[in-house]
Amino acid sequence: MSDAAALLQTISAAIADAAQVARREPDDVTLVAVSKNRSAEEIEALIEAGQRHFGENRVQEAAGKWPSLRARYPDITLHMIGRLQSNKADEAAALFDVIHSLDRPSLASALARAEWKGPTYLQVNIGEEEQKGGVAIADLPGFIDNVRESGLNLAGLMAIPPAEVEPSPYFALLAKLARRHDVSGLSMGMSGDFRSAVMLGATVVRVGTALFE
Ligand SMILES: *Cc1c(COP(=O)(O)O)cnc(C)c1O
Repeated sequence: MSDAAALLQTISAAIADAAQVARREPDDVTLVAVSKNRSAEEIEALIEAGQRHFGENRVQEAAGKWPSLRARYPDITLHMIGRLQSNKADEAAALFDVIHSLDRPSLASALARAEWKGPTYLQVNIGEEEQKGGVAIADLPGFIDNVRESGLNLAGLMAIPPAEVEPSPYFALLAKLARRHDVSGLSMGMSGDFRSAVMLGATVVRVGTALFE
């Protein structure tokens, strides 16, 4: 087995274990391999091992790496997980299948104008951090209404909890907000904390470092 295949198996097993603890189906959790800053060769090793969902955080980088990989592996699903500038909405709509980082009304308008139809997650600034992206919790109800009215395909909520503190309360809070607003998807959990995210209801985990190193 390749190193990539072994890592993929380890992470997939950890997701399945966490799901079982929470009496959830492992298949209800999608593993997105975050391939930012990774070479096409590293990515291809994971594809060959069976991984199909990948995440990138910059339009430019994705535009450089993915068209040729996609031509060879047409069943890839590509996720945009980083901050998206409104003037890149058209390019992002053409490149990606899923967007996790809708964080402001002006971007919702730009995506609607770009006729973006893919599953879209609203990023929530779950720890109310000054420097972090995401809509403020207080603004979430109005923003959800706005997004629903714009015709975008609202798939769920996404968040990155504050660093260096126990993430579980933030995962639980995001899950509560999703329930309150009748939103089904929860994009939460990274290399250091995907197990607790799965136990608290994540439907998508975004794992980079643990899959590539
Ligand atoms: C880089 C990144 C990840 C993956 O982080 P790791 O700690 O390497 O697993 C997940 N989500 C977002 C938004 C990222 O930018």
